[in-house]
Amino acid sequence: MIIGIDDTDSRSDGGCTTYIAAVLVEKLKKYGDLADYPLLIRLNPNIRYKTRGNGAVAINIEIDGASEADEVKEVVLDEVRSQSKLSDENTNPGVVFLDGTPPDMRNDLGSFFRRAMQDILQIQDAKDLLNRYDIDSCGFKNGRGLIGALAAAAVASNGIPDHTFELIAYRRPAQIGTPREVDAGSIRDADLQTYPRTWDTVDRANKAVVCVPHGCDPVLFGIRGEADGVIDAKGHIRSEPIERSVLFRTNQGTDMHLMRSTIDRTRGGRSYILRGVVSSAPQTIHGGHVIFEIADPQSGSGIDCAAFEPTKNFRGIIRQLAVGDRVVVCGSVDDRTVHLEKIKIEHLTALYETGNPVCACGRRMKSAGVGQGYRCKRCRTVSLVPDRVPIKRSLDCGWYEVPPSARRHIAKPLVRCAGGARLVHPGR
Ligand code: ATP
Repeated sequence: MIIGIDDTDSRSDGGCTTYIAAVLVEKLKKYGDLADYPLLIRLNPNIRYKTRGNGAVAINIEIDGASEADEVKEVVLDEVRSQSKLSDENTNPGVVFLDGTPPDMRNDLGSFFRRAMQDILQIQDAKDLLNRYDIDSCGFKNGRGLIGALAAAAVASNGIPDHTFELIAYRRPAQIGTPREVDAGSIRDADLQTYPRTWDTVDRANKAVVCVPHGCDPVLFGIRGEADGVIDAKGHIRSEPIERSVLFRTNQGTDMHLMRSTIDRTRGGRSYILRGVVSSAPQTIHGGHVIFEIADPQSGSGIDCAAFEPTKNFRGIIRQLAVGDRVVVCGSVDDRTVHLEKIKIEHLTALYETGNPVCACGRRMKSAGVGQGYRCKRCRTVSLVPDRVPIKRSLDCGWYEVPPSARRHIAKPLVRCAGGARLVHPGR
C-alpha cells in the first residue's frame, strides 16, 4: 500500500508533514516492511498555498495480510487528524491510499505528478482522478492536500526519475518552540568532511548555517546529499538530543520543476529554462535586487530576469553581464520576471572602450580640439577616428547558481552537475 500525505502544517502553529511520516514509519512497522525509503516530494515551488517548500510525503509499505489494510488506514488517518493544524484556514490535509496500479492508471498518475511539479492544479483535478480509479482517500476541510498527497503517491508508485536524499533529525516535543541547540562548528565540520556527497549544509561564502530551520516546527536539522554522505554528516553534528531521525528519498536537487521553453511562451507560476541574449544591462534597484532583460532573437520577445537581494554574492556575477551576452536562465516566472536560480553564460560579447589613437611613431595622440580629431605632438600626424580598445571581461563562461542560503529545495545544485563537458561554478 502506498500512502500519500500533504498539507498538515501551519506557518504560525508549526507541525510538519515529514514528521507525520517519521512517526508513521515507526507505528506501521508491525504491519509490514517498507518497500522503499519514505519519499519527500517537492512540488511546484510557485504555489501560493504552500507553507514553506511545497513538500508532500509518501510511504510504500508491504502489508503482511490484506485484512490489515483497514487497520493501517485507521492508524494513518488518526495520526494525520491528531497532528494536523486544522485551525489554520490554510491547512487542508489530504491522504491517499494506493493499492495496485493498472497501466492506464499509471499513465494518468504519471501525468498528474508532472503537472503537480510544473503546473497549477485545481482540487477537482485530484478528485477526478481519485474517482476515475476509485482510489481510497480522505480530504480534510477543503481537501487541497489531496493534490500533493496524490502526486507523492504517484511518484512512489511509478518510480522517481532522479533522486537525492535528506536525513531529517527531529526535536523532542518538549523542546519545540525553544531556540535550537546545534553546534555551528560541528556543522561546518560535517560539511568539510562530507561535501560534495552532501550540499547546502552551510553557505560558506555568506557565512550562514543552512541546514537548521528557524520556525516552530519539529525539525532540528536536515542534511541533503547522497545517502552515505548524509549519514556520515549526521555523525559529526553535536546538538540537543534528537528524538528520531529519518532518511527520506527525495526529488530535491533535481530541477524537476523546470521546463524548456521560449520567452514568448512563458506563463506565471511555472518554472523554465530559457535561452536568450542580454538586451538591457543589469541594474541594481531599490532593495539591492539586480534586474536585466533577455530577448529571443527569433521571436523578438523579451523578459526581465532578477537576482534578488537574498541571492547575495550571485548578484556580483549578474552585474558583470553586458548587452549582447548569450545566456540560458533557469527560474520561475512571476509578473513577467524570471526569478533566477541558475544561469549559463554561453558567450561573452566583445566589449570595447574608445581611446586616443596611437600614432605610427608609437606616441599616443592628443585631442586636436572639438570635432578636429587627434594629432601627434611629435610628428604632427592627424587621425579623425579614436582607437577601439578591447575591454578584458573578468567573467568566465559556464553555469553559475544562487548560493546555498538562497537555494530552492527542488533546484539542482551545480555540484550535482560537475564532471563531464559542463563548465560549472558551484556556489558554496
Ligand atoms: P511543508 O513543506 O512545510 O510541509 P508546504 O510548503 O508543503 O509545507 P503545504 O502545507 O503542503 O505547504 O501546502 C501546499 C498546498 O498546495 C497543498 O495543499 C498541496 O496539495 C497544494 N499543491 C501542491 N502542488 C500543487 C500544484 N501544482 N497546484 C496546485 N496546488 C498544489
